[in-house]
Amino acid sequence: MPTFRAPRGTRDLLPADHVVFDRLLRTAADLATRYGYHPIETPLFEQTAVFERGIGEVTDVVEKELFRLAPRTEESESWTLRPEPTAGIVRAYVQHGMQTLPQPVKLTMTGPMFRYDRPQAGRYRQFWQFDVEAIGDPGPAVDAEIIELGHRFYAEVGVDGVEVLVNSIGDAACRPAYIAELVRYYRRHAASLPPTELDRLERNALRLLDSKDPAMADLNAAAPRITDHLCDACAAHFESMKAHLAALGVPYRVAPGLVRGLDYYTRTAFEFYVAGREGQQQALGGGGRYDGLVALLGGKPTPGIGFGLGLDRVMLVLAEQGGGAVGAPEGPLAVVVGADAEDTVARLRVATELRAAGLRVRAELGRRKLGRQLEAAGRDGAHFAVILGDELEGGQVQVRDLLAGTQRTVAVGDLARELARAEASHRHG
Ligand code: AMP
Repeated sequence: MPTFRAPRGTRDLLPADHVVFDRLLRTAADLATRYGYHPIETPLFEQTAVFERGIGEVTDVVEKELFRLAPRTEESESWTLRPEPTAGIVRAYVQHGMQTLPQPVKLTMTGPMFRYDRPQAGRYRQFWQFDVEAIGDPGPAVDAEIIELGHRFYAEVGVDGVEVLVNSIGDAACRPAYIAELVRYYRRHAASLPPTELDRLERNALRLLDSKDPAMADLNAAAPRITDHLCDACAAHFESMKAHLAALGVPYRVAPGLVRGLDYYTRTAFEFYVAGREGQQQALGGGGRYDGLVALLGGKPTPGIGFGLGLDRVMLVLAEQGGGAVGAPEGPLAVVVGADAEDTVARLRVATELRAAGLRVRAELGRRKLGRQLEAAGRDGAHFAVILGDELEGGQVQVRDLLAGTQRTVAVGDLARELARAEASHRHG
């Protein structure tokens, strides 16, 4: 037999991992609700063109990392697993005429994304993102509101020392002149550019600024800064956004090299890092304004901003910081055991009634001795063992409190109510 393993770059989330993962999902859903974002689900795959247009062809994600689905012969369309959520959400916004709703339309989605990347620590081929998008508000107040929401997510899930990096990448009015200057700068240093960067220089010079190539670090540190070339409107937007952040008490740092180098990304760009770990593989999350994207996907020009926070990396950081210790999954409230090892019918029947009443109950389905059944109930972390014996004929069972070590007789008719009451007082006590 072959040994089967999860595909390279993917991982299984086992029940113990789920204790932390569920906390992240709950916090994400709760925060999104508190901030007025409504859930949306888009397909895991879209027409490839949605991503090629929606992310841009001269990007790592589209040039190298798209997870294309092999075409079926009878279909001529090309499909791709979503590498990020924004393009699909904006496609849905346009398709469903959400431009006629009161603006902004605030949407949230949490789910797996796919990038055919070289797997390494913190970089997977399937990973999870918590995403929010506010479509139809030009900002800058909503920019700060979204950044504060992201910052709060990390605080509430317990990641320490998250730093917010912000930048403005200008707009169609001021960016072309800046890019021209950037191209002149890199051309002067063409001799020290790696071939792939040289190739990109003519197609999308902004991308060089956030190159992952270490050979680019010094060159990029000395490159002209876009924040020195903003037009008045973009500069005012950036100043106001920062003033809002300061007023909300969100600590931030301006990072001139932080760009999302695509034509329809505009103005605000931001990323979240654990302070001191600003390497390319370490971003916990990021986002930005995309005032050109809705039009690019066929809608009327509409501004938008959003973020995607990587949950896998949050889990890694939590584990490192000791806040994400793998917890044991919660045990059952009660395990139904029986003196007659063979009578699985009675155990299952009692357990079924308790479950129907809304309780977390396991029935012992093994045919082992009562002592062994009780030991297993203890190992499960159960609070109670419901013990079926001869008095079941008279409508009674024994309930053993495994935590307190006490035992008493309870009528079967009262069992669900008694256990529910015990659970409630245990939780609140
Ligand atoms: P991006 O759209 O590339 O800015 O990604 C947003 C966030 O998703 C990043 O900050 C990461 O936390 C996470 N992320 C992106 N790519 C991956 C990946 N391959 N594996 C795990 N997390 C990722």
